[in-house]
Amino acid sequence: MNCTNCGAPLKVDDEKCQYCGSITPYGEQKLQERRQHEREEQQRQSAANLPAMKYVSMTFAVCVYLITFGYYAPYWYATRIAQLNGLGTSKKFPAWAAGVFGLACLGMFILPGWEGYFGVTEEFSQEVVNYSLGIAFVVSVYLAFAVRGMLQEHAAKFMDRGAAVQTIAPSGVSLVLFGPLYLQACINRMIAMKMLAPKI
Ligand SMILES: [Zn+2]
Repeated sequence: MNCTNCGAPLKVDDEKCQYCGSITPYGEQKLQERRQHEREEQQRQSAANLPAMKYVSMTFAVCVYLITFGYYAPYWYATRIAQLNGLGTSKKFPAWAAGVFGLACLGMFILPGWEGYFGVTEEFSQEVVNYSLGIAFVVSVYLAFAVRGMLQEHAAKFMDRGAAVQTIAPSGVSLVLFGPLYLQACINRMIAMKMLAPKI
């Protein structure tokens, strides 16, 4: 093989022509390989610095949600407080709201069945259930939007802020209706998009 610039003969493993110094096809290939290697190394390092969140398959999440009559929702928030705070966003996760949500969920089933005992009247029991239901709904919507805000802020580190808002849990209706299920689907997608590491 000869140098494409000066025509001098080249050895097989010459990366540069020994006469004119121009780069050889072999040298070009080596350079590409080194660049590729550097890129992969950078990706590995940034992946190691990614905050981790739990991946849950949607089939599993939906099944658990149905089997537990929706009680998976307060559990989901309670077990994600540390992971969400690990995103390092400007606002911390409102842990108090997760506590209120849990209590309200308890309130929905703790009194029914005790009517007539310990002076618990049917009206009082029904009232507690109604209030608990109302509080649980309001707080669950508040939590869903708070978590969406945190995920969008995290995504904005990787993309334009507007694009993050359009991409990460964009549907407010789905957020109200499906809460943690919708958020989990978004987290799964963010793991696939290499914005989050899967928590092991
Ligand atoms: Zn040459």
